[in-house]
Amino acid sequence: MSERHLIYAANWKMNHGPAEARAFAKKFLPLVPSVTGRSLWFFPPAVSLGALDEALAGRPDIKVGAQNVHWESKGAFTGEISIPMVMEVGARAVLVGHSERRHLFGETDEQVARKTGAALKAGVTPLVCVGETLTERESGRTEQVVVRQLGPLLEVLEPAEWVKVVLAYEPVWAIGTGKNATPDDAAQIHELIRMELGRNGVSDRVPILYGGSVNTANVGLLLTRPQIDGVLVGGASLDPEGWADLVEKGSQAKVRPSGGYDLADG
Ligand code: PEP
Repeated sequence: MSERHLIYAANWKMNHGPAEARAFAKKFLPLVPSVTGRSLWFFPPAVSLGALDEALAGRPDIKVGAQNVHWESKGAFTGEISIPMVMEVGARAVLVGHSERRHLFGETDEQVARKTGAALKAGVTPLVCVGETLTERESGRTEQVVVRQLGPLLEVLEPAEWVKVVLAYEPVWAIGTGKNATPDDAAQIHELIRMELGRNGVSDRVPILYGGSVNTANVGLLLTRPQIDGVLVGGASLDPEGWADLVEKGSQAKVRPSGGYDLADG
């Protein structure tokens, strides 16, 4: 078992209404015990937040969060949901700047920073996603894009606020495509993010998760990299047995203190 605190975050996207969310929780809970140093986060559709929060109650290792919020707490924003509203139905985290929000709905780096600031002020944990598209990667602009995406966040947040932020590096070309970054590629960008935070006086304790086609076969190897503090998973988190299996497989990954990497039993 890794001694690091690891976060396993499930992004259900537009899947699992309230009845399915309750059924998921009923199957999932007995399969995955509460373990010190491991947190399980669920981002269901907003309409399922209350049902899922109730169904998962009594597990301090589990929290539910919203997939998207507006930065204002109320007003004339048809179709939007505010942070106090999602908190009222149990959300303790919010996903901010997921690539589908950025690329399908035109969310900008500045809007991502405003949402993150609003989440922190309201007292929920923002899980902020960054990552490059395939075109950006192929034209050698990965680092530039990730640094650009972090820019407005670094401007808006005080260094002290960063201890309550979680980041996820999610290369867009790896999301839902079955192509994941190699552990070395992911670790390299995680290091870049860590350096950029450090350069701006941000705590080195901000967890950085990896996301993009993580599954039971690759989670162990990804988590052997000390730079990767957990995973953000879409497709492979939708089935309770599959998600439980992924969490257990990931938890067996071990980081060698000497700097080499290996799996606990392999
Ligand atoms: C995601 O939705 O954040 C994600 C990483 O999806 P998938 O695991 O399906 O690639």
